[in-house]
Parts: sequence; C-alpha cells; structure tokens
Amino acid sequence: MATPLSAAKMLAALKAEGLTVHEHAGWKTHNRDAASGRSFGPVIGVLIHHTGGHDDKELCYKGRSDLPGPLCHAWLGKTAGLWMIGNGRTNHAGYADIDVLNAIRDEKPLPHDDEAKADGNDCLYGLEIENRGKGGDPYPAAQYRQAVLWAAAICRAHGWSEKSVAGHKECQPGKIDPSFDMDDFRAAVKKQLAAGPAGTVPTKPAGKPRVDLSRLVKAAKTDPGAKQGHVSYLAGTNLTEAALVELGYLAKSYAGDGSFGSTTVAAYAKWQRHLGYSGAEANGIPGKISLSRLGERTGLFTVVA
Ligand SMILES: [Zn+2]
Repeated sequence: MATPLSAAKMLAALKAEGLTVHEHAGWKTHNRDAASGRSFGPVIGVLIHHTGGHDDKELCYKGRSDLPGPLCHAWLGKTAGLWMIGNGRTNHAGYADIDVLNAIRDEKPLPHDDEAKADGNDCLYGLEIENRGKGGDPYPAAQYRQAVLWAAAICRAHGWSEKSVAGHKECQPGKIDPSFDMDDFRAAVKKQLAAGPAGTVPTKPAGKPRVDLSRLVKAAKTDPGAKQGHVSYLAGTNLTEAALVELGYLAKSYAGDGSFGSTTVAAYAKWQRHLGYSGAEANGIPGKISLSRLGERTGLFTVVA
C-alpha cells in the first residue's frame, strides 16, 4: 500500500528508467476522482492491458460513451511511444477479484481469478498497450521493452518487486489481455529491477500464453458433467474459448467463465470436423494437433503437453 506518485514523480521515475515520455495535453489533471467521488490510492501495483485495437490513444484519453476516460494512466503505441494519459483514478481495471488484489498487494503468487467484485481502479496503475490482441498481432521488441520499463519504473519508485505486476486477464474472469505471457513479462521486469535504472538488459520478447493440454483435456472431460459452471482449468479454458469465439465456432455469451461446458465441447467438435476429423476423433475433447492449430490460427496461445 502506498500513496500514488505525483505527476512530477511519475515523470521523473519513467525518465530515470530510460523511457522517452510524451505528454497528452491535460493529462496531469485528467482522472475520475471527482466524477466517481472516489479518490485514487492507496496503490498496490500495476496492471497491463492490450487495447484490442489500433490508433486508440485518443480513445484512451476520452473514453467511450459507456466508459468515460481516462481509460489508463499511460498508452503505449506500437510505434508512437509512451504517452501520459491520466493522473489519479482511471477506468482501466473495472472490477477485479479481491483475492488477486490481495496477492498483488502482498506480492504473493496470484490465485486464479473467479469473481469480479472489488474496485481495481482505485489501487492499480494501468498501461494500455496498442495491440489488437488477436490474429497474431505482434508486439514490436521496442514496444514490449518500453512496457517492461514502465512497469519497472513504477515498481522501483514504490519499492515493489515484479510480483506487484499483473495482467488484466489475471484479475478479472473473461479478460484475455494482454495477449502475451505474464510470467515472461514479470521475469523481464525482475531483470530490469536488478539491473538498475537505465540499466541495459536485453529484453527477450514474451512468448504467447501457454495452454497445458493435459489440464485442458481433464477440464473438457470433467466440467460438462459437473455442477453448472464448474471450473477445472480457468486460464486454459478461457483462451481456448476465446479462440473458438474468434473463429465463429462458439457464441461469445458462452465464453469467459472458465468452465469447459457441453457447449464448448460441441464448439470444439465443430473445429475438429473443420480440420477433417470425424467420429471419435471429433468428440470435442482437445487433442495436441487440433489445439495447436487453434492456437496458431488465432495467435492466442501455444500448447504444452
Ligand atoms: Zn484490459
């Protein structure tokens, strides 16, 4: 728990970490504190997002009709660099799992997110990274490196470790951003923190999130027969469902609760038939080849067996 950095301290921390910082006009007084009646802080960590689109810096500043801006503290363009967007409470995290928030605060391993009832906007700094988040949209190495520096700068300023860094997908069920592996990202932040400010450590770009085939198979065999909404493997199921939604095999309303239910099994069977399988080989239980093809086609994940 810490008092939020002032605008001046935030700028100093980011620049000391080696970042070039651009300032959106008005960012220093742009926040949701007065409108929501809730002030920002104490802060406990930083949250990483992808925007789900392109050219969305102004959208992050102004917000949408259903969600007023600012939508983050900083926006990181694919090639446009790092831009300061808000200072104070911003609408980036929405509701989050209280157990995950507590783990971020205590710098403990994150539990699986299975509810979203706690206010994440008053305690987390948010970075929106410009990326479609699907279809294999790549993160240029320079952009990814700047995201690592942004997180490390704030952690360093507060005396936090990399364990105070989380992805949106780790704290709110149904979210899949950012579309890179967060353990890889935290490892890069840890390296940067150890190297010191403006330290030059090469950052290996993060891999895609990984889906464990054996855990997913177990979920596909267990969840349909269990109590409605039973969850065996939340992260892997969410990624698989997101991919099935993207390819049109599953309605969006059935995705995101982490349960590999009978509708998901039926959707997966359609994908298997699309690949040319039939009979018992198209029974909706994921296999290595069909799952790998699903991850490759959508760019959402890789498979570990
Ligand atoms: Zn997000």
